[in-house]
Amino acid sequence: MPKHRHSHSSAPLPQLKDKLRRNARKITGPRQAILEVLRHHPHPMSNKEIHAALLEKDCDLATVYRSMHLLEGMKMVKRFDLGDGVARYELLKEGDDGHHHHLVCTRCARVVEIDECFTRELEQKIASRNGFKAVSHRLEFFGLCPRCQ
Ligand SMILES: [Zn+2]
Ligand SMILES: [Zn+2]
Ligand SMILES: [Zn+2]
Repeated sequence: MPKHRHSHSSAPLPQLKDKLRRNARKITGPRQAILEVLRHHPHPMSNKEIHAALLEKDCDLATVYRSMHLLEGMKMVKRFDLGDGVARYELLKEGDDGHHHHLVCTRCARVVEIDECFTRELEQKIASRNGFKAVSHRLEFFGLCPRCQ
């Protein structure tokens, strides 16, 4: 079964700056600070968590919301929904679509990064059976972690 390999946090920041420059956007202090926070965090973070991890002087919560929206549009972060309706973000590596899944503890909200994914054949089967094209999927797993059992 083919896996989507993915690793976190390995894009060096100079590369990110280049990418920002190519997108012809000014690297504002807040945006750079947000990317730094995400780079050091292995799991998806909500806007509030990002804001809490920033130094007080960096920016307010509204700026975090605006910045995340912008960074998502620039494909520098990937948005995940872990079932509670709160948008969470991970840093996207250059040339990586960031496709992967999470296993979330329903009691303590601990998050585990999952390597397994559906085979391309299953997606194609679902697509052709229903006359769809360009089928993709989003999927997160939920359960009780070892500490909460
Ligand atoms: Zn737990
Ligand atoms: Zn992840
Ligand atoms: Zn998948």
